[in-house]
Amino acid sequence: MKIEEVKSTTKTQRIAAHTHVKGLGLNENGTAIPIASGLVGQEAAREAAGVIVELIRAKKMAGRAVLLAGPPGTGKTALALAIAQDLGNKVPFCPMVGSEVYSSEIKKTEVLMENFRRAIGLRIKEIKEVYEGEVTEMTPVETENPFGGYGKTVSHVIIGLKTIKGTKQLKLDPSIYESLQKEKVQLGDVIYIEANTGAVKRQGRSDSFATEYDLEAEQYVPLPKGEVHKKKEIVQDVTLHDLDVANARPQGGQDIMSMMGQLIKPKKTEITDKLRKEINKVVNKYIDQGIAELVPGVLFIDEVHMLDIECFTYLHRALESTLAPIVIFATNRGRCTIKGTEDIQSPHGMPLDLLDRIMIIRTLPYRIEDMIQIIKIRAHTEGIPIEDDCLQLLAEIGDKTTLRYAVQLLTPSSILARINGKEKISKEEIEECNDLFFDAKSSAKLLQEEEDKYLK
Ligand code: ATP
Repeated sequence: MKIEEVKSTTKTQRIAAHTHVKGLGLNENGTAIPIASGLVGQEAAREAAGVIVELIRAKKMAGRAVLLAGPPGTGKTALALAIAQDLGNKVPFCPMVGSEVYSSEIKKTEVLMENFRRAIGLRIKEIKEVYEGEVTEMTPVETENPFGGYGKTVSHVIIGLKTIKGTKQLKLDPSIYESLQKEKVQLGDVIYIEANTGAVKRQGRSDSFATEYDLEAEQYVPLPKGEVHKKKEIVQDVTLHDLDVANARPQGGQDIMSMMGQLIKPKKTEITDKLRKEINKVVNKYIDQGIAELVPGVLFIDEVHMLDIECFTYLHRALESTLAPIVIFATNRGRCTIKGTEDIQSPHGMPLDLLDRIMIIRTLPYRIEDMIQIIKIRAHTEGIPIEDDCLQLLAEIGDKTTLRYAVQLLTPSSILARINGKEKISKEEIEECNDLFFDAKSSAKLLQEEEDKYLK
C-alpha cells in the first residue's frame, strides 16, 4: 500500500495574510454588511465586486477583466480573494505581482501561462469503494519479531469505524498509520479510507465536544448513514497547473493524483507547450464524458503597471481562450508610460484596447474605525491577545503609514509582550516596535534626508 500525495502548488504564503477573508459579506440584495465574512468597510467596492460575481455566474464576463484601482493597502488583494470565495468553495485563487514576469530563467509569457493554469480548477468525480465512519479506535497490534530478534513489530492496525447503524472493526496494513498521521486523524473524526489504495481522507469532526473556537474552524459532518463499506463519489479538486507538474514528473502509484499524473507519457521532465496541449486534450475528453468539470478561478495580478506591452498583448489574447480564469488586475498608479513602449502614456500604464474590456472598481483609504476592526480581526485570527486601547493606537499608526504596516506590528509586539511577561500586548510594546521598525514611507524619507551620509 503506497500513498503519495501531490500537494497543490498554490502560493499559500501570499494568501496567509488574508485567511480571515471568507467572502464579500453582502446581503441578498447585494448590499455590503459593514462587517461580514471577514471584510470591513470598503462598501462601494464590495458591492461592485458583488455585481462582478453575478456577471461571472451569468457567464457574461467572457473576454473581459476587472481592475481594482486604489492606494496601497486598501484591500485590493483581500477583495479579489473574496470574489473567488463568493464564486464557490474550492474555486482557485492565484495571486501574482506584475514584476514576477521578469525572471532571467523563464520567458515572460511562460510565467503568465503558468499562473493562468494555477487559476483554472478541475473537479474530478470518481466512484470509489471506501470504508467510511467515525473513528472510535486506532490500535496498532504488535507481534513478536518474526526473525527472532529483540523487540516487537506492528503486524496490523485495528481501526474502529462507526456509522449510525453501528461500529465495525477493520484490520489494516501497518502503513495506514502514516496516512492517519498525515491527515492528523483523531478519535471522533469522520474519515474514509479508499479500499484500493488505503488513502485516508479526514472529513471533519462529528462530535459536539469541541469548543466554540473550534466550531468556527472545524467542519462538522454528520455521522455517515448505513454500512461502513460502500461506494462513494469522491470529488478531487486540482488545478491545470497541478496536472502539468504531475505529468512532467510522473510518480507512479494508485491514488488519484498519481493516476492523473499519467494522463500522457512525456519524454521530458519539464512543462512544455506540447505537454500542456496534450493535457488539455485529455481534460477536454474527461469533461465531455462528464468525469470532470472545469472550475475557472481568479488570477490576481497586482501592480499591473509593471507588465510590458508584450505581456499585455499575450494576456489580451489569453482572455479570449475558452480555458481562461477571471483576471483581476490591481494598480495604485494613475497615468503612466506603458512599459516596453517608447513613451505611450495611458491610464494605469495599460494599453487602451485592453482597458476597453475592463471594468474598473475603485478602492478608498480606510477610516480609523475600519482599521480598528480589521486589526482586531487579524489579531483574533492569529491568536494574538491584545488590549482594546492598543487597537486604537495601531489604527492611528496605520493611518499615518499603511494598514499593512500596522497589521505587521502585531506579531513582533506579541513576542515583546511575552518577553515582558505579559499576557496581552499593551501600548508599550507597540510603541517599542514602532520605534524599532520603519514603514516604507518613513524609511525612504529618512534615507533621502540623510542622502549625503551614504555611499553613492
Ligand atoms: P492592497 O492589495 O490594496 O495593497 P491588501 O489587500 O494586500 O491591499 P493589506 O494592505 O495587505 O491589504 O492589508 C493588510 C491586512 O488587512 C491584510 O491581512 C488584509 O487581508 C486585511 N484587509 C485589508 N482590507 C480589508 C477589509 N476591507 N476587511 C478586512 N480585512 C482587510
